[in-house]
Amino acid sequence: MGEQIKIACGVFGAINYEKQHIFPYIYWGMRAQNHRGHQSHGFLTYNNEKFHVHRNLDLIPKLKSSAIQEWFGRLPGQVGIANVRYTTSGKCDEKSLIKGTQPVTASKNGFKLAVSFNGNVVNTFQIKKEISKEFPRFSYECDADLICHKLLIELMKGKDLKSAVKTCMQEIEGAFSVAGITKDGEFFAFKDPCGIRPLCAGHSEDRSTYAFSSETVGLDINSFEKDFEIEPGELVTTSKNGFQREKLVNGNRKAFCAFEFAYFARADSCFDDRYVYEVREEFGRNLVRENPSIVKDSDIIISIPETGDDAALGAHEESGLRWERASRRHRYVTERAFILLNKERYSTIDKKVNILASKVKGKRIIITEDSVVRGDTTKIIIEKLRRMGAKKVYVFITFPRIIGPCFYGIDMATYGQLIGSKHNPEEIAEIIGADAVCYQAIENFVKATSFKRDKLCLACVTGKYPTPLAQRLADEMKKRFLAGTEEIARPYEMDELLQKI
Ligand code: SF4
Repeated sequence: MGEQIKIACGVFGAINYEKQHIFPYIYWGMRAQNHRGHQSHGFLTYNNEKFHVHRNLDLIPKLKSSAIQEWFGRLPGQVGIANVRYTTSGKCDEKSLIKGTQPVTASKNGFKLAVSFNGNVVNTFQIKKEISKEFPRFSYECDADLICHKLLIELMKGKDLKSAVKTCMQEIEGAFSVAGITKDGEFFAFKDPCGIRPLCAGHSEDRSTYAFSSETVGLDINSFEKDFEIEPGELVTTSKNGFQREKLVNGNRKAFCAFEFAYFARADSCFDDRYVYEVREEFGRNLVRENPSIVKDSDIIISIPETGDDAALGAHEESGLRWERASRRHRYVTERAFILLNKERYSTIDKKVNILASKVKGKRIIITEDSVVRGDTTKIIIEKLRRMGAKKVYVFITFPRIIGPCFYGIDMATYGQLIGSKHNPEEIAEIIGADAVCYQAIENFVKATSFKRDKLCLACVTGKYPTPLAQRLADEMKKRFLAGTEEIARPYEMDELLQKI
């Protein structure tokens, strides 16, 4: 497989109108969302017409309350944005990772801009070409640079923020949930016309502070009240009086990422006023209803990893089978296996999950799992259960079978890396050593989310992409994959190729 650069991020930003330092809010708002990316983090504030930035690798560090005040000198101001990010890339040296850390800035001819971004640009080749005309030495490690420079170029043409953002929405294809600050300290946020990634808005009780956050947990931790989820194609700005909302572009359709429900989001976050937790419980119930004969042939339910817990509770309630907490995490081994690089994954799963041997010995077990991408994580866990004497192992997977890549910010870049693109559930069961693998039916998954089917992105499980270039990329990649040609993992290169054919 070639070099890959794929991103998943978390965004937080806030502004205070009573001259309070903003750093504590963006620190806590972002720390609540460290699960969205833990390879790097960054904070940026605006004060006296200057941007002040701190970026570093790894998780956001723990700061004592008194230490937070010490940061006011380094990151002063009443408005700020923050980001957490992960990337898997051929270039994993510290310098490259630091270079790709957000928030990012761009400046030229007295214009400047800062943005924090979550998503992925699909037509990178075209946008990069355009940016290179204005910035001949432009190179980027992260799609946030593309968004930031493109927006700056539109502002440099004399457009106001609204028209500049509108052009970006019309010309950039992909997923982008953005919070930003202009050179005048104007605070804003916007989403792509399909609204693929989450971004919500909220306020403090005294209405002196307004914030944007990828997930509602970023608002909760600051005791902010949620106002609304930003609509697809919407630009939101703030003033002392609150939020000003404007729909700039009508997309083909809303396409909120279904995978957020199954895997990415924290269970205590809300989408459309429903806790992700409740949705995941319903996933578990659905799997039981869909597979009565397997339930009949089972003794206990266990959940691995943590994101399978909520589904396990639902499955336990629906089936009456005991939910045995027979797998425990080593609490302070915090790496997410999916985010880790291949070589790190094996050793970490072994280190982070411990099985209570006597609870599984001789038992017929249902494991609830949030998703199976490559299959190797689940395989290792099943091997562990077999070693401990499990008699049968069935796998209930809440996210339907992933059959195609994601071009919108989740690290699933090629058909080749997806076990579900090549194999049916029976074959997958054999490969990972399970007695059966049961994926939740797409219709039941959708029903549990309370979203209408045509308001969700389900591209990686249906092959139907909500944006046109992504569809062409997927179709071309599939053709190559089926023909046995080596896949190009970077949409940028594939986009370039598509321009030629
Ligand atoms: S392709 Fe899958 S992972 Fe990517 S945005 Fe759509 S639903 Fe989410």
